[in-house]
Amino acid sequence: MAEGACGESPAAHEGILRRQSARESSARTYARALPIVPVRARGLTIEGADGRRYLDCLSGAGTLALGHNHPVVLEAVRRVLDSGAPLSVLDLATPVKDAFITELFRTLPPGLADRARVQFCGPAGTDAVEAALKLVRAATGRTGILAFTGAYHGMTAGALAVSGGAPDVQVARLPYPQDYRCPFGVGGPAGAELAARWTASLLDDPKSGVPLPAGMILEPVQGEGGVIPAPDDWLRRMRQLTADRSIPLIADEVQTGVGRTGAFWAVEHSGITPDVMVLSKAIGGSLPLAVIVYRDDLDVWQPGAHAGTFRGNQLAMAAGTATLAHVRENGLADRARRLGARMLGQLREHLGAFDCVGEVRGRGLMIGVELVDPEEAEAADAGPATGDGHAAPTGWERTRSPLPAAPALAAAVQRECLQRGLIVELGGRHAAVVRLLPPLTISDEQAAAVLDRLADAVAAVNRDQQAHGPHHRRRHGPAQRAG
Ligand code: PMP
Repeated sequence: MAEGACGESPAAHEGILRRQSARESSARTYARALPIVPVRARGLTIEGADGRRYLDCLSGAGTLALGHNHPVVLEAVRRVLDSGAPLSVLDLATPVKDAFITELFRTLPPGLADRARVQFCGPAGTDAVEAALKLVRAATGRTGILAFTGAYHGMTAGALAVSGGAPDVQVARLPYPQDYRCPFGVGGPAGAELAARWTASLLDDPKSGVPLPAGMILEPVQGEGGVIPAPDDWLRRMRQLTADRSIPLIADEVQTGVGRTGAFWAVEHSGITPDVMVLSKAIGGSLPLAVIVYRDDLDVWQPGAHAGTFRGNQLAMAAGTATLAHVRENGLADRARRLGARMLGQLREHLGAFDCVGEVRGRGLMIGVELVDPEEAEAADAGPATGDGHAAPTGWERTRSPLPAAPALAAAVQRECLQRGLIVELGGRHAAVVRLLPPLTISDEQAAAVLDRLADAVAAVNRDQQAHGPHHRRRHGPAQRAG
């Protein structure tokens, strides 16, 4: 295409990036690590203004269940545009909204579907989190909230307060179970059991300093926290603990919903029914939409108790209806489960040998590779300093003593991926987890290409680390390490 009309050419690409860094806020994030200028996109593929093509495993931070510009989504949006329907209607009833609610309720876990109420919030996930927190506070008359280490629920004040990075007096923080960096040093079912016991003891000890809370909020798989799937048993324990004490359980499925983890909703893996579900991202079929769904007896709101101008985005509802129906009708959650398990297995096989890979984990098409400091790995693999012939630690032993996170290596892998035409996200407590969130429509061939490029990128970083890393310098040039 000729330069000008759509700003496409290597020069236009450079100019747009230059103007972006001059004019946009320094709070910008993805744009720093991914200096691309998307001009066209279809499915898994994005084309940049410079003509380069990329496989997009960021998917709008997990928003694009069907990839970019899926025909059923485009068709649904066009239908609304061509019909002359209003595009923004606050919370008025419309046929478009009616169809969305019908399709959404069809997908809900059975225990909730029969007695569900839906509330349309402001357009972002964080708006729905705010609504959920307010709702359980209104319904219980209590104020405290139980939340988990490593959680991410959004960037508005209430959502930030229940996220892992921000302390808040009304929020009690509980350990989220994890194998690789288990806070109890044991991992596996034993670590999850200890995490559950800690939660129970906090609730039952009258002197724990944690009064009976208004609700508990959790992600069935922590996404931004580093792709950490909650064990099903632990989730059932959280459901039991909260139900026994009349504490509403809020499942934040903003990122895990709509088939992403291999079930339509991630809570289905454990069979639990939450009292409140927070939904956004994929439910809008790539356009902004956020809702909470909750059991009718929690519906204590006064009219106008929670409002917002942009609750009535008709294009997002139409795109969302098309997406939900397409995922359901085509069994894409099941496809995500099978393909995700295969990709996880292949990644473990291909990356497990690299010292800079601490763990490969995930559920469905939510996959993470945690990068760690290989220098520490080499020290550990060398065996005890006494040289008494102990074997190098096995994977399990290394799991119990996680190596330090390596954010610089993760960033290097992201750069190497981009050079190979693959877009990946970074996440995790230390931004050391390379994340894959491909669309559920990814083909087997595309999945193989993604894995090839990622494995190649990790190999390159590993090679570079061995050639130029601090360990190499220490062994081969001690003076360079002095000081
Ligand atoms: N909850 C979860 C689990 C999320 O992953 C996110 C976004 N990554 C949010 C809430 C916040 O959504 P938004 O960025 O749309 O406000």
